[in-house]
Amino acid sequence: MSQYEGILSDIWKKVNRGDSPSYDEIVFMYDSANINDLGRMARSITDGLTGKQVSFVSNMIMNYTNVCNVRCKFCAFYRTGSEDDAYMLNVEDVVLRVKHFYDTFGIKQLLIQGGVNPDLPLDYYVNLFQTLHEKFPDLGIHGLSTSELSFISKKEKITIPELLETLRKAGLETIPGAGAEIFSDEVRKILRRPLGSGKEWLSIMEEAHKLGIRTSATMMFGHVEESRHKAEHLLSILELQKKYHGFVSFTPWNFEPGNTQLEKENIVKYRAGGVDVLKNIAISRIVFNKHLPIIQSSWLTNGVQMGQMALLYGANDWGGTIYDEKVIPATGKSVGNLRKEIIIESVKEIGMIPVERDNMYRTIRNYN
Ligand code: SF4
Repeated sequence: MSQYEGILSDIWKKVNRGDSPSYDEIVFMYDSANINDLGRMARSITDGLTGKQVSFVSNMIMNYTNVCNVRCKFCAFYRTGSEDDAYMLNVEDVVLRVKHFYDTFGIKQLLIQGGVNPDLPLDYYVNLFQTLHEKFPDLGIHGLSTSELSFISKKEKITIPELLETLRKAGLETIPGAGAEIFSDEVRKILRRPLGSGKEWLSIMEEAHKLGIRTSATMMFGHVEESRHKAEHLLSILELQKKYHGFVSFTPWNFEPGNTQLEKENIVKYRAGGVDVLKNIAISRIVFNKHLPIIQSSWLTNGVQMGQMALLYGANDWGGTIYDEKVIPATGKSVGNLRKEIIIESVKEIGMIPVERDNMYRTIRNYN
């Protein structure tokens, strides 16, 4: 057995015992492992957890404002507030748009995310969530990034648990994983994320999990990060997951450079290639193992074909239809909306079983 085979075999033995690879082994997988070896291992873990089933949700994203005072260098979506295309939707506008997608497509999840808009008080969010919850009671509200939550709590001078309780009472069901990017401050400094905001992401998620609010986790790759940063990132999420089991899914998604400051400054010119995308899917599957069973393929940044490939390399959730999404189109990449029929076809085409779910991952219909 070669040294390479020996290391992979050690990782495989650990995974079979239900353990996870070490930091060094994760860096090894990123830097030296063959993508197909990783894919086989990852897919076999997924087969053991959820078989050939692939879940998806009919959902929309409500980007209620693009005004943001954080101004990350990887974001093409934000406006400072003075531009002609800066916007903020009032509650009536939001309800009208949601009603359209609710009536037309029967959406089950509403992802609400926007810029960190300094003009919006807590009352805006409470009123928004309450109104949506009253009008669409079976629609799971999956809302607000840690950046938004952190700003609101500071603006209102209340603690994160107080804020989360208030929002939950108003109708918030779960919290998306946005804002995680790569936790290391070394990387966040280049991305122009506030220093310490990686640790803050973990601490806000921990507070949510302590209150019993389930959340998602993410990692953005394909910019200035190195393998060691991704290894640290994955292990930090795993450590928190082992404490409360509050994460329902993990999505590794690749950075889209179009129209961002990172592209304008020639720091990142191209998006990650397919091998990189699949490596991140497979490695996250291997690291999280049975501790975090759902790995989501990000078709929004990779397209339908890569979405299918991600399933073959260990993902078991397609994500959503994501009607009305505005962040990725701001990069110049045109993805369009995906009807649920296309997801069902795409999953069946590769011999897997589409299962429609709601926001809490409860099965609505099995399309076997
Ligand atoms: S990623 Fe979010 S916090 Fe950063 S600039 Fe864009 S909207 Fe603002």
